[in-house]
Amino acid sequence: MFKRLKEADPEIYKAIMDETSRQNENIELIASENFTDIGVLEAQGSTLTNKYAEGYPQARWYGGCEFVDVAERLAIERAKKLFGAQHVNVQPHSGTTANIAVYFAMLKPGDTILAMDLACGGHLSHGHKLNFSGRYFNIATYGVNKDTEMLDFKEIRDKAKKYKPKIILAGASAYPRSIDFSKFREICDEVGAYFMADIAHIAGLIVAGLHPNPVPITEFVTSTTHKTLRGPRSGFIMCYDEFAKKIDTAVFPGLQGGPLMHVIAAKAVSFKYALSDDFKAYQRRIVKNAKTLAHAMEGYGYRIVSGGTDNHLMLVDLSGKNITGKEAEVILDKAGITVNKNLIPFDKQKPAVASGVRLGTPAATTRGMGEDEMKKIAGFIDKVLTKRTDDKVVAAVRKDVKKMLERFPLYNID
Ligand SMILES: *Cc1c(COP(=O)(O)O)cnc(C)c1O
Repeated sequence: MFKRLKEADPEIYKAIMDETSRQNENIELIASENFTDIGVLEAQGSTLTNKYAEGYPQARWYGGCEFVDVAERLAIERAKKLFGAQHVNVQPHSGTTANIAVYFAMLKPGDTILAMDLACGGHLSHGHKLNFSGRYFNIATYGVNKDTEMLDFKEIRDKAKKYKPKIILAGASAYPRSIDFSKFREICDEVGAYFMADIAHIAGLIVAGLHPNPVPITEFVTSTTHKTLRGPRSGFIMCYDEFAKKIDTAVFPGLQGGPLMHVIAAKAVSFKYALSDDFKAYQRRIVKNAKTLAHAMEGYGYRIVSGGTDNHLMLVDLSGKNITGKEAEVILDKAGITVNKNLIPFDKQKPAVASGVRLGTPAATTRGMGEDEMKKIAGFIDKVLTKRTDDKVVAAVRKDVKKMLERFPLYNID
């Protein structure tokens, strides 16, 4: 692979090879990342990138769309089957674009959205003040309960009554617990708000029946395709049939021009994998590994936010360990363990420093790691964090990490 590229552009070739080695040689614990299948990479690297296909299948503004139509229709049909959706739009370029499209379809600038506070696990596109969502809409937020660190439906109901939002948004980037979408539904009905669920992180778990599925009871559901779903980097929207036209028009011509047909084909491929029993077994291993990792971290004296995890990720509170999330991220990287710093609920640190790290198991589970490896990883993390000033210890863990990874080969695309 990459023979032509190697000759034509050695610098980019080298960047790709170096990144592939980095992925091969580090333990990937970033909860939003995964390793997609070679079949997905092939579809994404295909000639479909050459094709303009503005519009939707059989209603395009360009000729010659008969084969990309096949790809888009397959992606739509498979997504419908996976989630039980009435209508699916697979054209959003990313999860953020999918969210913008829903706001754009249903709201006017200045309308109110009630969403989860970023500091408690929400996402930038749910109303951060620098994001378009926070600049164009009025954002009200709910958090988590101070004691349980879990969603507090009394607070959410009170805020919904107080702010009278047009949309109530459920979904998060750093929430380790199961989300009870039916309670959100009730609150939306009480205050006359549309319900929107962003399942970017948990889509794979939902497919496998390991997390409640909001699709049957939610007007708008958005998702990424590259997290637990293990597809290409992209997004999609599901909605009730009655909103199909509004959503489709918001995506094109509202927000985007030509859809990325090679990425849509890759989404279709990943949806096909997601329909298999193998995929469901993989999701079960993700959840099991997350529980094991959280338990093992607790065994080393780390506090896990909310006391555990129901899904693929956990937040580790480092505030009692005299190290910040930022420092932990840097030192773990040196040992070959990739994590991201993360705010914990009611964090006293700034977002760029943070008191916690977020750990997720989807990528490591894709490599075939199981519970034994999770226990070992917790040991590696603890060793590096407690002996962080000792370069020799960090280097020794780096070696142990590499050795462990030899048994879990990932990509060989030289
Ligand atoms: C990751 C994520 C997104 C956005 O995904 P991008 O593809 O990076 O734009 C949206 N919502 C939530 C909850 C996420 O976790």
